[in-house]
Amino acid sequence: MSISSVYPATGETLKTFEPYDEAEVERRLALADSAFRVYRRTRFDERATLVRAMADVLEADRAAIAEMMTLEMGKPVVQARNEVTKCVGVLRYYAEHAAAMLADEPVAGTAAKNGSYLKYQPIGPVLAVMPWNFPLWQVIRFAAPAFMVGNVALLKHASNVPQTALNIEDAARRAGFPEGVFQTLLVGGDRVQAILEDDRVAAATLTGSEGAGRSVAAIAGNAIKKTVLELGGADPFIVMPSADLERAVEIGVWARVQNNGQSCIAAKRFIIHEAIADEYFERYAAAMSKLVVGDPLDEATQVGPLATAQGRDEVNEQVQDALSKGAKAICGGGTMDGPGWFVQPAALTELTPDMRVYRDEVFGPVTSFFRAAGIDEAIALANDTSFGLSSSVWTEDAAEQRRFADDLESGMVYINAMTISYFDLPFGGVKRSGYGRELSPAGIREFTNIKTVFSD
Ligand code: NAP
Repeated sequence: MSISSVYPATGETLKTFEPYDEAEVERRLALADSAFRVYRRTRFDERATLVRAMADVLEADRAAIAEMMTLEMGKPVVQARNEVTKCVGVLRYYAEHAAAMLADEPVAGTAAKNGSYLKYQPIGPVLAVMPWNFPLWQVIRFAAPAFMVGNVALLKHASNVPQTALNIEDAARRAGFPEGVFQTLLVGGDRVQAILEDDRVAAATLTGSEGAGRSVAAIAGNAIKKTVLELGGADPFIVMPSADLERAVEIGVWARVQNNGQSCIAAKRFIIHEAIADEYFERYAAAMSKLVVGDPLDEATQVGPLATAQGRDEVNEQVQDALSKGAKAICGGGTMDGPGWFVQPAALTELTPDMRVYRDEVFGPVTSFFRAAGIDEAIALANDTSFGLSSSVWTEDAAEQRRFADDLESGMVYINAMTISYFDLPFGGVKRSGYGRELSPAGIREFTNIKTVFSD
């Protein structure tokens, strides 16, 4: 795959890069290794100063960084700016709170004696294999905790967002991080194996598709290196009769179409109690039909093009597969002419298990609607997928809320809210959505040596 920026609204190639050759990758691995030996010994307050400085750099460059994301992957520019703001926030949050999360921790218990404790120590250079959909957030969500731990980062970003990848490296340099603490490797996915097998690389985190996750986990497993995998999702959005229907419609549409429908935690399968299903479908389809689809650089645009031609084709095929097997489109459902990789926002009903949209992840602004006769059926439908990232449930009934929290097979359950990542909450999935957590004390400790210090 070539490493290039292509504007998804027109298909125009903006810039192409030669992948780094082996000598350049070797130089950068050596630099990461030597940088780690020094950086691991820095104090928390020194790291926090650098992390805050990086937040300041991103904040100052917000408009330019956001515009580049829009040019490379097509997200509406307003959403791109919000993404930069969120990254500024997460950097400041970890600068402030990471030292407490990583402080030596006294332990008590039958084996532990007075004075036994745990240390959370850095483990080395971590390879971050990242996707294009939130090209800044996915990287910073990993990097902010990593910087505070004392690890160093090697970013292998998606091949269609090279300029954003270089912008992040540049921001780290301008923030004053020592050379080698954060480096971008402009290489394709085929080069990941050799890098990950290198003894100087300690671990890998991957956010991306199931296939990429399987491949990276296999390589890391063979090399006995830790991985965190944040993979795909087919998240349910369940609405019960007691829910505030207006909010559940308004937020449901946003939860499906934000980022042009290309979010791992987007609500993808809408499971609506049959008592309110007709009304919900009608209101949802009306709201979806009003969305402004168009040029992502236009401030008024709510839904832009998909990031790649391949992604557009895949979504169109999934929709056509469903329609050819008897699904009904209550809005959208056709293809869009003209340049760029646009997909009509769509909502499909009358779905059956032989259709791809029934269980698969649809990475675009297409809603799958299901009816459920009650909570048992809603939970059964929700769990009938190989993914398990998050779930959003809408009910005012406390017993139903507990039941959903207990029985949904997902890493996260949001009640009367859409799934969003918060700086201080663990983020991650189960089943084929991956393993491990990002953010929060649980996430920051993933790439640490949890060292037991026993004292008799
Ligand atoms: P992708 O094709 O898996 O790409 C992600 C990254 O993995 C890219 O850097 C890609 O490099 C690399 N890669 C792909 N195949 C690889 C392989 N066999 N070995 C090593 N590296 C490989 O995913 P995507 O299409 O960019 O992103 C969409 C997917 O990511 C969706 O399934 C979405 O749900 C998931 N996602 C999950 C989360 C989460 O937090 N759980 C967040 C965002 C997205 P190249 O670009 O060079 O191929």
